[in-house]
Amino acid sequence: MNFGNVVDHAAREIPDSWAVGDPERRITYVELSAASNAAANLFAARGVDRGERIAICLRNQVPFLTAYLGAMKHGAVPVPINTRFNDEQVRYVLATSDSSVLVTDEAFESVATNVETAITVDGSIGPRFQTLLEDAANTYTVYPRRSDEIAAVVYSSGTTGRPKGVRHTHGNIIANARGIRTYHRLTRDDIGLTVSQCFHVTGLNVTTTPLLLAGAENWFLPEWDPVSVAETIETRDVTYTFLTPNMVRDLVADDNVNDYDFSSLERVVVGGAPMPTAQLDDAEATLDATVLEGYGMTETTPLAAFNRPDTDVRKPGSVGPPAREVVDLRIEDIDTGQPVDCGERGELLWRGDTVTPGFERQQRNAEAFVERDGKRWLRSGDIGYLDDDGHLFVVGRRGDMFTVGCANVYPREIEEVLYDIDGVTGAAVIDVRDDLKGAVITAIVTRDSDVTEAQIREICRARLGEHEIPEQIEFVDDIPRTATGKIDRVALGEMFESLSS
Ligand code: ATP
Ligand code: MG
Repeated sequence: MNFGNVVDHAAREIPDSWAVGDPERRITYVELSAASNAAANLFAARGVDRGERIAICLRNQVPFLTAYLGAMKHGAVPVPINTRFNDEQVRYVLATSDSSVLVTDEAFESVATNVETAITVDGSIGPRFQTLLEDAANTYTVYPRRSDEIAAVVYSSGTTGRPKGVRHTHGNIIANARGIRTYHRLTRDDIGLTVSQCFHVTGLNVTTTPLLLAGAENWFLPEWDPVSVAETIETRDVTYTFLTPNMVRDLVADDNVNDYDFSSLERVVVGGAPMPTAQLDDAEATLDATVLEGYGMTETTPLAAFNRPDTDVRKPGSVGPPAREVVDLRIEDIDTGQPVDCGERGELLWRGDTVTPGFERQQRNAEAFVERDGKRWLRSGDIGYLDDDGHLFVVGRRGDMFTVGCANVYPREIEEVLYDIDGVTGAAVIDVRDDLKGAVITAIVTRDSDVTEAQIREICRARLGEHEIPEQIEFVDDIPRTATGKIDRVALGEMFESLSS
Protein backbone atom coordinates (compact mmCIF):
# COMPACT_ATOMS: atom_id res chain seq x y z
CA MET A 1 0.00 0.00 0.00
CA ASN A 2 1.21 3.48 -0.94
CA PHE A 3 1.15 5.79 2.10
CA GLY A 4 0.15 8.62 -0.27
CA ASN A 5 -3.31 7.00 -0.39
CA VAL A 6 -3.93 7.88 3.25
CA VAL A 7 -4.82 11.46 2.43
CA ASP A 8 -7.21 10.39 -0.36
CA HIS A 9 -8.97 8.05 2.01
CA ALA A 10 -9.50 10.93 4.44
CA ALA A 11 -10.55 13.19 1.54
CA ARG A 12 -13.38 10.77 0.75
CA GLU A 13 -14.46 10.23 4.35
CA ILE A 14 -14.05 13.71 5.79
CA PRO A 15 -13.48 16.00 2.78
CA ASP A 16 -14.12 19.29 4.53
CA SER A 17 -12.27 18.62 7.76
CA TRP A 18 -9.11 20.67 8.26
CA ALA A 19 -6.01 18.67 7.45
CA VAL A 20 -3.08 21.01 7.90
CA GLY A 21 -2.35 24.64 8.58
CA ASP A 22 0.63 26.94 9.01
CA PRO A 23 0.89 30.64 9.87
CA GLU A 24 -0.04 31.52 6.28
CA ARG A 25 -2.81 29.12 5.29
CA ARG A 26 -5.02 26.22 6.27
CA ILE A 27 -6.40 23.51 3.95
CA THR A 28 -8.93 20.69 4.20
CA TYR A 29 -8.36 17.02 3.44
CA VAL A 30 -9.94 17.32 0.00
CA GLU A 31 -7.66 20.29 -0.75
CA LEU A 32 -4.56 18.45 0.49
CA SER A 33 -5.51 15.45 -1.64
CA ALA A 34 -5.94 17.68 -4.73
CA ALA A 35 -2.73 19.62 -4.07
CA SER A 36 -0.68 16.46 -3.61
CA ASN A 37 -2.20 15.06 -6.84
CA ALA A 38 -1.12 18.23 -8.61
CA ALA A 39 2.39 17.78 -7.16
CA ALA A 40 2.44 14.18 -8.43
CA ASN A 41 1.44 15.41 -11.91
CA LEU A 42 4.08 18.08 -11.73
CA PHE A 43 6.83 15.60 -10.85
CA ALA A 44 5.61 13.27 -13.62
CA ALA A 45 5.70 16.14 -16.12
CA ARG A 46 9.29 16.89 -15.09
CA GLY A 47 10.23 13.36 -16.03
CA VAL A 48 10.82 12.02 -12.54
CA ASP A 49 10.91 8.21 -12.61
CA ARG A 50 9.27 5.92 -10.08
CA GLY A 51 11.70 5.30 -7.27
CA GLU A 52 13.68 8.44 -8.07
CA ARG A 53 14.60 10.74 -5.17
CA ILE A 54 12.97 14.15 -4.79
CA ALA A 55 14.74 16.35 -2.25
CA ILE A 56 12.61 18.71 -0.17
CA CYS A 57 14.37 21.42 1.80
CA LEU A 58 11.54 23.35 3.45
CA ARG A 59 10.62 24.29 6.97
CA ASN A 60 7.36 23.06 8.49
CA GLN A 61 4.74 24.50 6.19
CA VAL A 62 1.93 23.23 3.99
CA PRO A 63 4.03 23.02 0.78
CA PHE A 64 6.35 20.57 2.56
CA LEU A 65 3.50 18.12 3.03
CA THR A 66 2.12 18.67 -0.47
CA ALA A 67 5.50 17.87 -1.98
CA TYR A 68 6.13 14.93 0.39
CA LEU A 69 2.79 13.27 -0.38
CA GLY A 70 2.91 14.21 -4.07
CA ALA A 71 6.29 12.53 -4.48
CA MET A 72 4.95 9.34 -2.87
CA LYS A 73 1.77 9.35 -4.95
CA HIS A 74 3.92 9.42 -8.06
CA GLY A 75 5.87 6.45 -6.72
CA ALA A 76 8.96 8.61 -6.26
CA VAL A 77 10.86 8.94 -2.98
CA PRO A 78 10.77 12.21 -1.01
CA VAL A 79 14.02 13.10 0.79
CA PRO A 80 13.48 15.80 3.41
CA ILE A 81 16.65 17.80 4.01
CA ASN A 82 17.65 19.52 7.22
CA THR A 83 17.02 23.23 6.63
CA ARG A 84 19.82 24.11 9.04
CA PHE A 85 22.41 22.38 6.93
CA ASN A 86 24.99 24.55 5.27
CA ASP A 87 25.47 24.42 1.50
CA GLU A 88 28.13 21.77 1.73
CA GLN A 89 25.92 19.49 3.81
CA VAL A 90 22.94 19.95 1.49
CA ARG A 91 25.16 19.08 -1.44
CA TYR A 92 26.30 15.97 0.41
CA VAL A 93 22.68 14.86 0.87
CA LEU A 94 21.77 15.63 -2.72
CA ALA A 95 24.74 13.60 -3.87
CA THR A 96 24.26 10.63 -1.53
CA SER A 97 20.55 10.41 -2.29
CA ASP A 98 21.07 11.08 -6.00
CA SER A 99 18.16 13.54 -6.09
CA SER A 100 17.40 15.18 -9.41
CA VAL A 101 14.69 17.53 -8.20
CA LEU A 102 14.87 19.88 -5.23
CA VAL A 103 11.86 21.68 -3.78
CA THR A 104 13.07 24.55 -1.63
CA ASP A 105 12.87 28.29 -1.01
CA GLU A 106 15.09 31.35 -1.24
CA ALA A 107 17.04 30.43 1.89
CA PHE A 108 18.71 27.69 -0.12
CA GLU A 109 19.22 29.62 -3.31
CA SER A 110 22.88 28.81 -3.58
CA VAL A 111 22.41 25.05 -3.43
CA ALA A 112 19.41 25.15 -5.74
CA THR A 113 21.63 26.19 -8.62
CA ASN A 114 23.49 22.89 -8.29
CA VAL A 115 20.64 20.54 -9.13
CA GLU A 116 19.02 19.74 -12.43
CA THR A 117 15.61 21.04 -11.39
CA ALA A 118 14.94 23.40 -8.54
CA ILE A 119 11.40 24.42 -7.70
CA THR A 120 10.96 27.12 -5.08
CA VAL A 121 7.87 27.82 -3.02
CA ASP A 122 8.48 31.55 -3.10
CA GLY A 123 9.52 31.76 -6.74
CA SER A 124 12.89 33.24 -5.82
CA ILE A 125 14.77 31.00 -8.24
CA GLY A 126 13.30 28.67 -10.80
CA PRO A 127 9.57 28.17 -11.21
CA ARG A 128 7.22 28.82 -8.30
CA PHE A 129 5.83 25.65 -6.72
CA GLN A 130 2.38 27.11 -6.14
CA THR A 131 2.04 28.31 -9.74
CA LEU A 132 3.09 24.93 -11.07
CA LEU A 133 0.54 23.26 -8.79
CA GLU A 134 -2.23 25.54 -10.02
CA ASP A 135 -1.36 24.69 -13.61
CA ALA A 136 -1.27 20.94 -13.01
CA ALA A 137 -4.29 18.62 -13.03
CA ASN A 138 -5.48 17.80 -9.54
CA THR A 139 -6.45 14.19 -10.10
CA TYR A 140 -3.86 11.45 -10.11
CA THR A 141 -3.94 7.67 -10.04
CA VAL A 142 -1.69 6.85 -7.13
CA TYR A 143 1.12 4.59 -8.29
CA PRO A 144 0.76 1.27 -6.48
CA ARG A 145 3.63 0.36 -4.19
CA ARG A 146 4.21 -2.75 -2.13
CA SER A 147 4.64 -2.24 1.57
CA ASP A 148 8.30 -3.31 1.34
CA GLU A 149 9.13 -0.71 -1.31
CA ILE A 150 10.98 2.46 -0.35
CA ALA A 151 8.68 5.39 0.35
CA ALA A 152 11.03 8.02 1.76
CA VAL A 153 14.61 8.64 2.82
CA VAL A 154 15.02 10.47 6.11
CA TYR A 155 18.37 11.58 7.53
CA SER A 156 19.52 10.83 11.06
CA SER A 157 20.75 13.62 13.32
CA GLY A 158 24.44 13.07 12.69
CA THR A 159 25.32 12.88 16.37
CA THR A 160 27.96 10.21 15.86
CA GLY A 161 29.23 11.26 12.45
CA ARG A 162 27.70 12.33 9.17
CA PRO A 163 23.88 12.10 9.04
CA LYS A 164 22.78 8.79 7.58
CA GLY A 165 20.14 8.50 4.86
CA VAL A 166 17.66 5.99 6.29
CA ARG A 167 15.20 4.25 3.98
CA HIS A 168 11.60 4.07 5.13
CA THR A 169 9.28 1.68 3.33
CA HIS A 170 5.56 2.36 2.92
CA GLY A 171 5.09 -0.48 5.42
CA ASN A 172 7.44 1.20 7.95
CA ILE A 173 5.55 4.49 7.73
CA ILE A 174 2.14 2.85 8.02
CA ALA A 175 3.17 0.61 10.94
CA ASN A 176 4.65 3.61 12.75
CA ALA A 177 1.61 5.81 12.13
CA ARG A 178 -0.80 3.06 13.19
CA GLY A 179 1.21 2.31 16.30
CA ILE A 180 1.41 5.94 17.39
CA ARG A 181 -2.24 6.52 16.55
CA THR A 182 -3.18 3.57 18.74
CA TYR A 183 -0.81 4.27 21.65
CA HIS A 184 -1.68 7.94 21.82
CA ARG A 185 -5.34 7.36 20.95
CA LEU A 186 -5.36 9.87 18.11
CA THR A 187 -8.77 10.47 16.54
CA ARG A 188 -10.39 12.86 14.08
CA ASP A 189 -11.10 15.15 17.00
CA ASP A 190 -7.45 15.71 17.74
CA ILE A 191 -5.59 18.86 16.85
CA GLY A 192 -1.86 18.38 16.58
CA LEU A 193 1.04 20.79 16.64
CA THR A 194 4.20 20.07 14.68
CA VAL A 195 7.04 22.30 15.77
CA SER A 196 9.80 19.72 15.67
CA GLN A 197 10.97 19.83 12.06
CA CYS A 198 9.58 17.52 9.37
CA PHE A 199 13.06 16.85 8.00
CA HIS A 200 13.52 14.79 11.15
CA VAL A 201 11.65 11.65 12.00
CA THR A 202 10.02 13.34 15.03
CA GLY A 203 8.18 16.16 13.20
CA LEU A 204 7.48 13.85 10.30
CA ASN A 205 6.41 10.64 11.99
CA VAL A 206 5.58 11.34 15.64
CA THR A 207 3.07 14.03 14.76
CA THR A 208 2.50 14.58 11.01
CA THR A 209 1.93 11.11 9.51
CA PRO A 210 0.02 9.63 12.51
CA LEU A 211 -2.25 12.72 12.55
CA LEU A 212 -2.93 12.25 8.82
CA LEU A 213 -3.76 8.59 9.37
CA ALA A 214 -6.12 9.57 12.19
CA GLY A 215 -7.86 12.16 9.99
CA ALA A 216 -6.92 14.80 12.56
CA GLU A 217 -5.81 18.40 12.07
CA ASN A 218 -2.15 19.39 12.21
CA TRP A 219 -0.65 22.84 12.75
CA PHE A 220 2.83 23.47 11.43
CA LEU A 221 5.14 26.01 12.99
CA PRO A 222 8.15 26.79 10.78
CA GLU A 223 10.33 28.07 13.63
CA TRP A 224 10.89 27.14 17.25
CA ASP A 225 9.64 29.96 19.44
CA PRO A 226 8.03 29.39 22.87
CA VAL A 227 5.48 32.20 22.51
CA SER A 228 4.30 31.04 19.07
CA VAL A 229 3.94 27.54 20.49
CA ALA A 230 1.91 28.80 23.46
CA GLU A 231 -0.22 30.98 21.21
CA THR A 232 -0.92 28.12 18.81
CA ILE A 233 -1.86 25.77 21.64
CA GLU A 234 -4.26 28.32 23.07
CA THR A 235 -5.87 29.65 19.89
CA ARG A 236 -6.04 26.35 18.01
CA ASP A 237 -6.99 24.17 20.97
CA VAL A 238 -4.08 21.83 20.37
CA THR A 239 -4.50 18.42 22.03
CA TYR A 240 -1.35 16.55 20.97
CA THR A 241 2.24 17.48 20.21
CA PHE A 242 5.84 16.33 20.26
CA LEU A 243 8.62 18.33 21.88
CA THR A 244 12.28 17.61 22.46
CA PRO A 245 13.46 17.80 26.11
CA ASN A 246 15.19 21.04 25.16
CA MET A 247 11.99 22.61 23.88
CA VAL A 248 10.21 21.57 27.07
CA ARG A 249 12.95 23.19 29.13
CA ASP A 250 12.74 26.43 27.10
CA LEU A 251 8.97 26.54 27.54
CA VAL A 252 9.17 25.95 31.28
CA ALA A 253 11.84 28.64 31.68
CA ASP A 254 10.04 31.26 29.59
CA ASP A 255 7.95 33.66 31.69
CA ASN A 256 6.24 34.97 28.57
CA VAL A 257 4.24 31.79 28.19
CA ASN A 258 2.76 31.83 31.71
CA ASP A 259 -0.42 33.63 30.78
CA TYR A 260 -1.43 31.29 27.97
CA ASP A 261 -4.15 28.72 28.41
CA PHE A 262 -2.84 25.20 27.81
CA SER A 263 -5.96 23.43 29.03
CA SER A 264 -6.75 21.85 25.63
CA LEU A 265 -3.39 20.06 25.61
CA GLU A 266 -3.66 16.41 26.69
CA ARG A 267 -0.60 14.52 25.51
CA VAL A 268 2.93 15.76 24.92
CA VAL A 269 5.33 13.19 23.58
CA VAL A 270 8.94 13.92 24.49
CA GLY A 271 11.97 12.18 23.07
CA GLY A 272 14.90 12.22 20.73
CA ALA A 273 17.16 12.70 23.74
CA PRO A 274 16.78 11.82 27.43
CA MET A 275 14.26 13.86 29.38
CA PRO A 276 15.83 14.72 32.76
CA THR A 277 13.48 13.20 35.35
CA ALA A 278 14.04 16.19 37.64
CA GLN A 279 12.20 18.32 35.07
CA LEU A 280 9.17 16.08 34.50
CA ASP A 281 6.89 17.55 37.18
CA ASP A 282 7.58 21.14 36.16
CA ALA A 283 6.97 20.19 32.56
CA GLU A 284 3.59 18.63 33.33
CA ALA A 285 2.60 21.63 35.44
CA THR A 286 3.57 24.19 32.80
CA LEU A 287 2.09 22.29 29.89
CA ASP A 288 -1.01 21.21 31.80
CA ALA A 289 -0.70 17.85 30.04
CA THR A 290 0.65 14.35 30.44
CA VAL A 291 4.26 14.23 29.32
CA LEU A 292 5.02 10.89 27.70
CA GLU A 293 8.65 10.10 27.03
CA GLY A 294 9.37 7.91 24.04
CA TYR A 295 12.49 6.40 22.54
CA GLY A 296 13.18 5.83 18.90
CA MET A 297 15.65 6.27 16.11
CA THR A 298 15.41 7.42 12.51
CA GLU A 299 16.08 3.74 11.75
CA THR A 300 12.88 2.74 13.61
CA THR A 301 10.70 5.37 11.83
CA PRO A 302 10.85 6.08 14.98
CA LEU A 303 8.33 3.95 16.94
CA ALA A 304 10.29 1.61 19.27
CA ALA A 305 9.36 2.28 22.92
CA PHE A 306 6.78 4.73 24.20
CA ASN A 307 5.02 5.63 27.42
CA ARG A 308 1.30 5.45 26.88
CA PRO A 309 -1.36 7.79 28.23
CA ASP A 310 -3.73 4.97 29.21
CA THR A 311 -1.58 3.30 31.83
CA ASP A 312 -1.28 3.82 35.56
CA VAL A 313 2.32 2.75 35.59
CA ARG A 314 4.56 5.53 34.40
CA LYS A 315 8.06 5.43 35.70
CA PRO A 316 10.14 8.58 35.65
CA GLY A 317 13.27 7.94 33.69
CA SER A 318 11.80 5.09 31.67
CA VAL A 319 11.04 5.51 27.98
CA GLY A 320 8.10 3.16 28.45
CA PRO A 321 7.58 -0.42 27.37
CA PRO A 322 8.80 -1.51 23.93
CA ALA A 323 6.05 -1.30 21.31
CA ARG A 324 5.67 -5.10 21.27
CA GLU A 325 2.86 -5.11 18.72
CA VAL A 326 5.24 -3.54 16.23
CA VAL A 327 8.84 -4.38 17.17
CA ASP A 328 10.90 -7.01 18.95
CA LEU A 329 13.66 -5.96 21.30
CA ARG A 330 16.78 -7.94 22.10
CA ILE A 331 19.21 -6.70 24.73
CA GLU A 332 22.61 -8.26 24.45
CA ASP A 333 25.93 -8.16 26.21
CA ILE A 334 28.24 -5.79 24.34
CA ASP A 335 31.18 -8.16 24.61
CA THR A 336 29.65 -11.59 24.09
CA GLY A 337 26.54 -10.78 22.01
CA GLN A 338 24.53 -13.05 24.33
CA PRO A 339 21.10 -11.91 25.53
CA VAL A 340 21.24 -10.42 29.04
CA ASP A 341 18.87 -11.15 31.92
CA CYS A 342 16.11 -8.82 32.97
CA GLY A 343 17.58 -5.83 34.83
CA GLU A 344 20.97 -6.19 33.19
CA ARG A 345 22.40 -3.71 30.77
CA GLY A 346 23.24 -4.34 27.18
CA GLU A 347 22.93 -2.96 23.67
CA LEU A 348 19.41 -2.58 22.32
CA LEU A 349 18.74 -4.42 19.07
CA TRP A 350 15.47 -3.98 17.18
CA ARG A 351 13.59 -5.76 14.45
CA GLY A 352 10.03 -5.52 13.18
CA ASP A 353 7.59 -3.47 11.20
CA THR A 354 9.06 -0.03 11.85
CA VAL A 355 12.70 -1.06 11.39
CA THR A 356 14.32 0.22 8.21
CA PRO A 357 15.48 -2.28 5.60
CA GLY A 358 18.72 -0.26 5.39
CA PHE A 359 20.59 2.90 4.49
CA GLU A 360 21.01 4.80 1.24
CA ARG A 361 24.70 3.98 1.47
CA GLN A 362 24.45 0.24 1.51
CA GLN A 363 27.99 -0.11 2.90
CA ARG A 364 26.58 1.05 6.22
CA ASN A 365 24.28 -1.96 6.49
CA ALA A 366 27.08 -4.37 7.27
CA GLU A 367 27.88 -2.76 10.60
CA ALA A 368 24.33 -1.70 11.48
CA PHE A 369 22.66 -5.08 11.12
CA VAL A 370 23.59 -8.41 12.69
CA GLU A 371 22.15 -11.88 12.47
CA ARG A 372 21.03 -13.55 15.69
CA ASP A 373 19.19 -16.89 15.73
CA GLY A 374 18.65 -16.63 11.99
CA LYS A 375 17.01 -13.22 12.19
CA ARG A 376 18.25 -9.81 11.07
CA TRP A 377 18.50 -7.23 13.87
CA LEU A 378 19.30 -3.52 13.85
CA ARG A 379 22.00 -2.50 16.31
CA SER A 380 21.01 0.76 17.94
CA GLY A 381 24.31 1.60 19.62
CA ASP A 382 22.22 2.48 22.69
CA ILE A 383 22.64 0.79 26.05
CA GLY A 384 19.68 0.05 28.26
CA TYR A 385 17.83 -2.46 30.40
CA LEU A 386 14.31 -3.71 31.06
CA ASP A 387 12.94 -3.71 34.60
CA ASP A 388 10.67 -6.39 36.07
CA ASP A 389 7.58 -4.68 34.67
CA GLY A 390 8.98 -4.60 31.16
CA HIS A 391 9.77 -0.89 31.16
CA LEU A 392 12.78 0.15 29.17
CA PHE A 393 15.47 2.41 30.60
CA VAL A 394 18.03 3.89 28.22
CA VAL A 395 21.28 4.60 30.02
CA GLY A 396 23.22 6.09 27.15
CA ARG A 397 25.00 5.52 23.93
CA ARG A 398 27.66 2.89 23.62
CA GLY A 399 30.01 5.49 22.15
CA ASP A 400 29.53 7.90 25.08
CA MET A 401 30.37 5.30 27.69
CA PHE A 402 33.85 5.45 29.17
CA THR A 403 35.82 3.32 31.54
CA VAL A 404 37.20 4.46 34.86
CA GLY A 405 39.39 1.82 36.45
CA CYS A 406 37.46 -1.29 35.47
CA ALA A 407 34.01 0.25 35.70
CA ASN A 408 31.83 1.51 32.88
CA VAL A 409 30.52 5.04 33.35
CA TYR A 410 27.47 6.37 31.51
CA PRO A 411 27.39 10.19 31.34
CA ARG A 412 23.61 10.27 31.46
CA GLU A 413 23.50 8.72 34.92
CA ILE A 414 25.75 11.43 36.32
CA GLU A 415 23.81 14.10 34.41
CA GLU A 416 20.57 12.91 36.04
CA VAL A 417 22.06 13.54 39.50
CA LEU A 418 23.35 16.96 38.45
CA TYR A 419 19.95 17.98 37.09
CA ASP A 420 18.45 17.16 40.46
CA ILE A 421 20.56 19.82 42.21
CA ASP A 422 18.80 23.11 42.93
CA GLY A 423 20.19 25.86 40.75
CA VAL A 424 21.56 23.52 38.08
CA THR A 425 19.71 24.13 34.80
CA GLY A 426 21.76 22.01 32.45
CA ALA A 427 24.46 19.36 32.66
CA ALA A 428 26.70 17.42 30.36
CA VAL A 429 29.35 14.94 31.39
CA ILE A 430 32.29 14.01 29.22
CA ASP A 431 35.58 12.28 29.80
CA VAL A 432 38.56 14.46 29.13
CA ARG A 433 41.55 12.32 28.29
CA ASP A 434 44.58 12.84 30.44
CA ASP A 435 47.82 11.05 29.64
CA LEU A 436 48.52 10.29 33.27
CA LYS A 437 45.10 9.73 34.75
CA GLY A 438 43.21 8.31 31.78
CA ALA A 439 39.58 9.46 31.79
CA VAL A 440 38.95 12.57 33.84
CA ILE A 441 35.22 12.90 34.42
CA THR A 442 34.29 16.46 33.61
CA ALA A 443 30.91 17.94 34.38
CA ILE A 444 29.88 20.96 32.37
CA VAL A 445 27.08 22.79 34.11
CA THR A 446 24.75 25.72 33.52
CA ARG A 447 23.17 27.34 36.59
CA ASP A 448 20.60 29.97 37.49
CA SER A 449 21.82 30.55 41.04
CA ASP A 450 25.14 30.72 42.83
CA VAL A 451 25.32 26.97 43.49
CA THR A 452 29.00 26.20 44.00
CA GLU A 453 31.40 23.58 42.84
CA ALA A 454 31.75 22.36 46.43
CA GLN A 455 27.99 21.92 46.83
CA ILE A 456 27.74 20.01 43.58
CA ARG A 457 30.63 17.79 44.55
CA GLU A 458 29.07 17.05 47.92
CA ILE A 459 25.77 15.92 46.38
CA CYS A 460 27.62 13.84 43.82
CA ARG A 461 29.57 12.17 46.62
CA ALA A 462 26.35 11.28 48.39
CA ARG A 463 24.56 9.93 45.34
CA LEU A 464 27.13 8.47 42.98
CA GLY A 465 29.67 5.70 43.08
CA GLU A 466 33.26 6.69 43.88
CA HIS A 467 34.32 6.18 40.25
CA GLU A 468 31.46 8.37 38.95
CA ILE A 469 32.16 11.58 40.86
CA PRO A 470 33.17 14.36 38.46
CA GLU A 471 36.76 15.36 38.98
CA GLN A 472 36.36 18.65 37.16
CA ILE A 473 33.33 20.90 37.26
CA GLU A 474 33.07 23.72 34.74
CA PHE A 475 30.35 26.37 34.64
CA VAL A 476 29.32 27.61 31.20
CA ASP A 477 26.55 29.86 29.84
CA ASP A 478 25.26 27.33 27.40
CA ILE A 479 25.73 23.67 26.58
CA PRO A 480 26.21 23.06 22.86
CA ARG A 481 23.46 20.92 21.37
CA THR A 482 22.80 19.38 17.99
CA ALA A 483 19.87 20.45 15.78
CA THR A 484 17.69 17.76 17.35
CA GLY A 485 18.49 18.82 20.90
CA LYS A 486 21.09 16.27 21.88
CA ILE A 487 24.16 17.24 23.86
CA ASP A 488 26.88 17.86 21.30
CA ARG A 489 29.60 15.82 22.97
CA VAL A 490 31.97 16.23 20.05
CA ALA A 491 31.87 20.02 20.37
CA LEU A 492 32.20 19.77 24.15
CA GLY A 493 35.16 17.43 23.82
CA GLU A 494 36.89 19.97 21.59
CA MET A 495 36.12 22.82 24.01
CA PHE A 496 37.53 21.02 27.00
CA GLU A 497 40.16 18.70 25.60
CA SER A 498 43.04 20.82 26.79
CA LEU A 499 41.63 21.40 30.26
CA SER A 500 43.69 18.91 32.14
CA SER A 501 46.95 19.47 30.33
P1 ATP B 1 23.38 9.53 14.14
O1 ATP B 1 22.74 8.18 14.09
O2 ATP B 1 23.40 10.19 12.82
O3 ATP B 1 24.67 9.55 14.83
P2 ATP B 1 21.30 10.13 16.06
O4 ATP B 1 21.39 8.71 16.47
O5 ATP B 1 21.35 11.14 17.15
O6 ATP B 1 22.43 10.51 15.01
P3 ATP B 1 18.47 10.09 15.54
O7 ATP B 1 18.01 8.93 14.74
O8 ATP B 1 17.81 11.38 15.35
O9 ATP B 1 19.99 10.35 15.20
O10 ATP B 1 18.38 9.77 17.08
C1 ATP B 1 18.21 8.48 17.61
C2 ATP B 1 18.95 8.38 18.91
O11 ATP B 1 18.46 9.34 19.85
C3 ATP B 1 18.81 7.07 19.63
O12 ATP B 1 19.67 6.10 19.10
C4 ATP B 1 19.14 7.46 21.08
O13 ATP B 1 20.53 7.50 21.27
C5 ATP B 1 18.61 8.86 21.18
N1 ATP B 1 17.30 8.91 21.85
C6 ATP B 1 16.09 9.03 21.30
N2 ATP B 1 15.13 9.09 22.22
C7 ATP B 1 15.73 8.97 23.42
C8 ATP B 1 15.28 8.96 24.78
N3 ATP B 1 14.00 9.11 25.10
N4 ATP B 1 16.21 8.81 25.76
C9 ATP B 1 17.51 8.68 25.45
N5 ATP B 1 18.00 8.70 24.20
C10 ATP B 1 17.12 8.85 23.19
MG1 MG C 1 21.80 7.00 15.35
